[in-house]
Amino acid sequence: MLPDYHIHTVLCRHAEGEIGAYRESARQLHLPEICFTDHVPNPDGYDPGNRMTLNEFPRYRALVAQLPTDGEPAVLFGLEADYYEGGVAFLQQWLPRQTLDLVIGSVHYLENWGVDDPVERQVWDQVDVTAVWREYFLRLGRMVDTHLFDVVGHLDLPKKFGHRPPDPDVRKLAAPVLDKIAAAGMVVEINSAGLRKPVREIYPSPLLLQMACDREIPICFGSDAHRPDEVGFRFDDSLRLAKSAGYSRAVRFSKRRKLYYDLS
Ligand code: ZN
Ligand code: FE
Ligand code: FE
Ligand code: ZN
Repeated sequence: MLPDYHIHTVLCRHAEGEIGAYRESARQLHLPEICFTDHVPNPDGYDPGNRMTLNEFPRYRALVAQLPTDGEPAVLFGLEADYYEGGVAFLQQWLPRQTLDLVIGSVHYLENWGVDDPVERQVWDQVDVTAVWREYFLRLGRMVDTHLFDVVGHLDLPKKFGHRPPDPDVRKLAAPVLDKIAAAGMVVEINSAGLRKPVREIYPSPLLLQMACDREIPICFGSDAHRPDEVGFRFDDSLRLAKSAGYSRAVRFSKRRKLYYDLS
């Protein structure tokens, strides 16, 4: 079984279950390693309903640190950090001072619109889908340019409710971003949460993962679990997707360094 590198905790205010239950789920599935990657605190009042406060960060570290350290799964400590214009200065000064195993970089908002937020889903009916995807990928490109993150989170998140431009447009919009990701040495996660969403498809799509593989962009695996029973969610499908895109290896992390392992 594969490491799960995208797991949340109750500290983000929209996940449930004891932290020990997440590890126990992973143990029962025989996952060799897990990494908690809860939503990063932002001190500027950004999206406060979906994240811990800066004052709660030590508690997050302590919660993860008190988990058993013997036997499998090994437990890593990470963050899912939002990229947004106003948030870069804080991350630049704060992130390098933290001891972390990996940092996922994610874009969830275009200006004030949460593109993946079910509450704001009706906005999709009023926008040009291709224009939204263009804007999203432009932001992702700027995110990669900051070199603050190790992993690109849910690469094609705007498809969550099924809104997607035709393949040739997706290809055109994504190619420059994937070139940047490759040049930056960043990793793309295969995030199985998409299978739980209306789109019913892993992030990224087979098309985009193929494009990533063509550029030799490394991959890792994540469930984006917000409940203990979502740990390792449908990793058999994730593994199949990776192999069919042409991947024969993936990466683990330790202290923000990549280590390759072969996919069996
Ligand atoms: Zn979340
Ligand atoms: Fe996310
Ligand atoms: Fe997440
Ligand atoms: Zn997420």
